Order: sequence, then C-alpha cells, then structure tokens
Amino acid sequence: MRTVTHPEHEHDATTGDKGMNKARPARLDLRAASGGGLFDYAPAPESVRPDIADRYGLFIDGSFVEPGSGNWFPSINPATEGTMSMIAEASTADVDRAVKAAREALPAWSGLPAKERGKYLYRIARRMQERARELAVLETLDGGKPIKESRDVDVPLACAHFFYHAGWADKLKFALPGRDPKPVGVCGQIIPWNFPLLMLAWKIAPALACGNTVVLKPAETTSLTALRFAEICAEIGLPKGVVNIVTGAGETGRAIVEHDGIDKIAFTGSTQVGKMIAKAVAPTNKRLTLELGGKSANIIFEDASLDQAIEGIIEGIYFNQGHVCCAGSRLFVQESILDTVIDKLSDRMSSLRVGDPMDKNTDVGAINSKEQLATISKYLTLGDKEGAVRHDVCNSSLPDKGFWCRPCFYSGVQPSHTIAREEIFGPVLAVMSFRTPEEAISRANNSPYGLAAGVWTDKGSKIFDVARRLDAGIVWLNTYNKFDPTSPFGGYKESGFGREGGRHGLLAYCR
Ligand code: NAP
Ligand code: MG
Repeated sequence: MRTVTHPEHEHDATTGDKGMNKARPARLDLRAASGGGLFDYAPAPESVRPDIADRYGLFIDGSFVEPGSGNWFPSINPATEGTMSMIAEASTADVDRAVKAAREALPAWSGLPAKERGKYLYRIARRMQERARELAVLETLDGGKPIKESRDVDVPLACAHFFYHAGWADKLKFALPGRDPKPVGVCGQIIPWNFPLLMLAWKIAPALACGNTVVLKPAETTSLTALRFAEICAEIGLPKGVVNIVTGAGETGRAIVEHDGIDKIAFTGSTQVGKMIAKAVAPTNKRLTLELGGKSANIIFEDASLDQAIEGIIEGIYFNQGHVCCAGSRLFVQESILDTVIDKLSDRMSSLRVGDPMDKNTDVGAINSKEQLATISKYLTLGDKEGAVRHDVCNSSLPDKGFWCRPCFYSGVQPSHTIAREEIFGPVLAVMSFRTPEEAISRANNSPYGLAAGVWTDKGSKIFDVARRLDAGIVWLNTYNKFDPTSPFGGYKESGFGREGGRHGLLAYCR
C-alpha cells in the first residue's frame, strides 16, 4: 500500500493504517503556520433543539398507533451513538392495516376537485417551511449530515417539491396533453437514509398531486423527519388514510412490495434490493419505478476553469459524506493537468472541516451508521491492497465518539480496481486520467451504472458533444449536484428506471 498523508496526521483513525511514503513535498500547513489557532473556527452550534418523544408509533389512518408486532427499535444519533427515540417496527399485519387505510381513502381523495387537492399540497409545503428549522435539526441529529446541508439543501428542496407539485395538481391535462390522466391507486414507497425528508418529498408530492394515496417506509436509521411529516399531515387536516407512514427495517419494506392491495411501488435504494423488488413485482400487475445506485463520472478537460471545477468536484463527492447516489465518485482528469488537479484537490481538501454535524461550520458530518462505516472501511482496505495510492490530505481531527471517516482520494487507480467499479457511498474519490475526449467518454461509460455525470470544459461544442454521449440520466455541465423540482432525475442501466421530478415524474403516478 502506498499512502500520501498530510504530515499532521500520520494515523488514520478509520482504518488504523499508518500513513507513509510522502510522495510529494508537504504543502503549506495553515494550522501549523498559525500556531494552531488563527485559522481555527470557534464552535457555532445550532441552538434549536426540537422535542423528540421517547417513542413513535406508526402513522396509520390519520393517527399514531401502536405496532401490532409490539416491537420497537432505537434511532441512533450517529455523531454521538446515543439513542434518540424508540421507533415502532411495522409487521406484515401493520402494513396491511396501512394499505387498507390508503385504499379506503382513495375514492374520496382522487375524487376531490383537483384544485382542492392542490390546496392541501400548498398547506403541507407552507407548514414544512414554517417548521423548517426543526426539520433540519432533526435530519441532522438522526442522520449525521451537517446542519448547513439539511438547512440549506434538504429541507428547502423538500418544501420546493411540494410547492411545485401543488401547482401541477389541477393542470395534469396540460402536463400530459391529449390524455385523460387518472391516479394509479395505492402507492407503496420505500426510501433510503441519505436524504430522508427530500426522498419522502420526491415520492409523496407527485403521488398526492395525481390523486393517489400512499404507504411510505423510511429507512430504519432515519425515521424521525418522516414521523414529523406525519404530524404535519395531521396538523394541516389532510384527510386520514391519504398518507400512511410505516417504520421498520427491510422486512417491512418487503411486506409493502408483496402486498396485493398495492398498485405501484416506488423504490429508492441499493441496486441489490432494487433487483429483488423487480423480481417480486414482475409477475404482478403492480407498476414499478426504481432509483438505484451509481458510480458517476466527473470529467475535467485541460481547458476547464480549474478552481471552479475543484469546488464542484469537492461538492460532488464529499458533500453529505459521499452518501449521495449521484456522487461524482470517479474523477477523470486529462493527462496534461493531472498533477495540477491533484495538488489543487489536496490543498482544498486539507481545509475541509469534519466533525459535529450540528456545528454550522462543519463541511463533512458523521457517517450514517456503524454498518456504513464498516462498508467504507472495507473499500479503503481494498483500495490500498489493490495498489492505488491513497491521499489522506484532510487535516481535520475526528471526535472520539460517533461514526467518522476522513475524506480522502486515490490516484493511480486502474479501471479494474474495486474502488473504480463499485459504489462506496462514502467520502472516497477515485482519480483516473485520460488523453482524448473519446477515451474519457468510453471510460466514463464503462460502468454497470448510469445515474449521473459531470463535464468540465470552457469549450461549448465539446461540452455538448460529450454530454450527449454519456450514458447517464443527469449530466451536469460546469457544475455538479444541482437539483430542482422542475428537472427530472433518474438513471440508466443498473441505476434504475423511471423519473422523479418535472413533468416526466408525473407519468409514474398517472394512468
Ligand atoms: P437499501 O438497503 O436498498 O435500502 C433502501 C430502503 O429499502 C430502506 O428503506 C430499506 O430498509 C429498504 N429495504 C431493505 N431491504 C428491503 C427489501 N428486501 N424489500 C423492500 N425494502 C427493503 O439502500 P440503502 O443502503 O439504505 O441506501 C443506499 C443506496 O441507495 C445506495 O446504493 C444509493 O445509491 C441508493 N440511492 C439511490 C438514489 C437515486 O435516486 N438513484 C437516491 C438515494 C439513494 P432499511 O433501511 O430499514 O434496511
Ligand atoms: Mg438515526
């Protein structure tokens, strides 16, 4: 194993590996130069602490009920490892109760004048905005993402999805001209832990706008904002049974997928579980949309604005601890600028702040769970073993408790290396080089996934030519990880099918 470390931390707390072989001279160490104090930020903790109940039941037919299973599981704060609340585990019978409630609510909800349905969505959006700070704090405590992410990205975007779809509710005939759109029926929706409230919004907002009712399962490690959303539904007087939230683990998800009373499954999660769901749904009449994993490529050409590109690359992979399905986890750099890009990347990364997610200055928060940290560590070990060079260039010290991984990147990566092929879902970037645009395109497309990509160049004709030839559902040009409810999102190949957002996203929820 060859590793490039910053002199300040020769020891990596995540894997216990010793740093060695400083391949390049150490850069100016700002913290050391300032005597360790001048450039340190004072703590800036978020002060709002919303009430969190000792335990939360299932939200079925408009109210919170005890789980028939009698089972509860803890929701952990990954930055402290403390238990925040006990969450109900929905059994097959509980899922059945929820599906029946959704079925009973369907005729009245789908029969409402569309304008009235739209009003409910507006009410949800406004109430979410009013409670935005509380939602952001809960998201951060439960999932480990920095408060500046949940406050400035997740929650505002979730609200925007409800506002956007509220507008469509009475205009579906314009969205789908020449057709007479009808709701699909009862929708079973299963979401992951990386954007808990935002994924909920992506699922529930279009479903309700098109007149469907839903049974949604959040991920086991991040149920709290979905349960707060349930409170909001009750608070704004959403008719009971229109939204049902059943918490639990994979078995609860499976019960939703296999339930006969469900007309459509919408799933966001891993490709592995997505394939199982596709098999289970294939012999039924259920409709299916899948938003799965990715191994997205960022391509930098020698004529790009490099400083701008470095910011985009950092945001694309280290933002949200790399827990982003469309993370730009493969970086292809034109050979002539490889050394410059590695230097600039190292310098920028040395100043990333890892730590307390509730601190407003934190760039990289806690890894969502112990299991995910183990997965990332497994890939770091593989990356080292297979011969890539790890650059441990981030200076931040890590807290004693909680699940942490210092962001790093690898150079000397071969296309056959595991870290170049498999989704790591952590703050780990694989840097590779290319010579010609043709080579960049073929190497970027050499992946079973096809979710997103980024292209960085100042040449207009090149950017459009390359973008057109990349097998990816989303291609960002001279930017990365930008989202908007009006813009459809979804993948090719093993990244799934179906689109969420925009006019295209409505199709999934209409007959
Ligand atoms: P996951 O294990 O597939 O879980 C996703 C959801 O499915 C969770 O709610 C999970 O419950 C549930 N689940 C697990 N096993 C199930 C089964 N047999 N039947 C039905 N549901 C089941 O994925 P994850 O590890 O939570 O999330 C990370 C993955 O999501 C990554 O691969 C990422 O790329 C992908 N993702 C994709 C997008 C996209 O839009 N393309 C967006 C975000 C994330 P538990 O959590 O309780 O196990
Ligand atoms: Mg949690």
